[in-house]
Amino acid sequence: MVKVGIPRALLYYQYLPMWKTFFQALGAEIVLSPETNRALLASGAARVVPDTCLPVKVFCGHVLDLADKCDYVFIPAIASLHRRTHNCSKFLGLPDIARAVVPEARVLDVDINTPQGQRELYQSIYSLGRRFTWNPVKIKRAAESAWQAHRTYLATMAERGLAPPQMLDGQTLPDPEARPWATIAVIGHPYVIYDDFINLRLIGRLREMHVEVKTPEMVPHTQLAEGVIRLLGHPYWTYEDEVTGAGAYYLQTGVDGIISVTPFGCGPDSLMQDVVRRNAREPYRKPFMSLVIDEHTAEAGLVTRLEAFLDMLQRRRPGERQP
Ligand code: SF4
Repeated sequence: MVKVGIPRALLYYQYLPMWKTFFQALGAEIVLSPETNRALLASGAARVVPDTCLPVKVFCGHVLDLADKCDYVFIPAIASLHRRTHNCSKFLGLPDIARAVVPEARVLDVDINTPQGQRELYQSIYSLGRRFTWNPVKIKRAAESAWQAHRTYLATMAERGLAPPQMLDGQTLPDPEARPWATIAVIGHPYVIYDDFINLRLIGRLREMHVEVKTPEMVPHTQLAEGVIRLLGHPYWTYEDEVTGAGAYYLQTGVDGIISVTPFGCGPDSLMQDVVRRNAREPYRKPFMSLVIDEHTAEAGLVTRLEAFLDMLQRRRPGERQP
């Protein structure tokens, strides 16, 4: 059986159910890299130039980990998913980056550029499936099952208020007995806000402080898209909804504050989170904190920022006390 490795990084949190369903329907076995740890980051960072963003360093470490555990490492190149939107250049060139810096891995890639039309999309998927079978019907069925798995995954998270780690890894929800004294929205890309090593366990820390945490995946996609339109008129970035869309949604709903998490040196995120930050100040007057993280971010610094933010929230709501 062919073994396909999927790095537990970057687009893993958005698309694992879809990719897994597709490859398994074609008879492949899935191999996942472990959760991010210091050794993985160090091995990835050693392969790229220092100013590469933290998530890509982490990703290279995951690819390296999988190189000798599977026949292929699956790395898609996603250029765009909607008309007139653009993806970060790292995503466009991800398979080439991996081939250049981790030559020991056999990369299995696919080009996804949805605005080019359905015909090109089907051809890309068919070329990918041909690595496993010559039967076009089997590839079509695998693609249909994969798309259905993806839709179910997104709908379940939005309906039940779950985040990817609870869906993918079976992580448990916070203790319902502990009554939250505040609700905070954490916005950012899934590979930043759900990778506990990258964000120094941000969501877990907030829950331990009896804060209810909301994330972009808990919002139906239509409302994220409407949020982007409200703040910007038209999305520019492919994953704009995870930052601007979620920010716009939570600015209008009853959360007490918003925390935006951005990797140091990320161009797209610095623009997206600034739109939310400016709107949080005026007209919404919603407490907003921007956390910029890199591999040198210290735990003590993060905790101090969180505590200061929560203290500020509490001063705005004198009736509620932190447990
Ligand atoms: S969007 Fe930012 S964090 Fe994500 S891969 Fe691109 S540069 Fe890195």
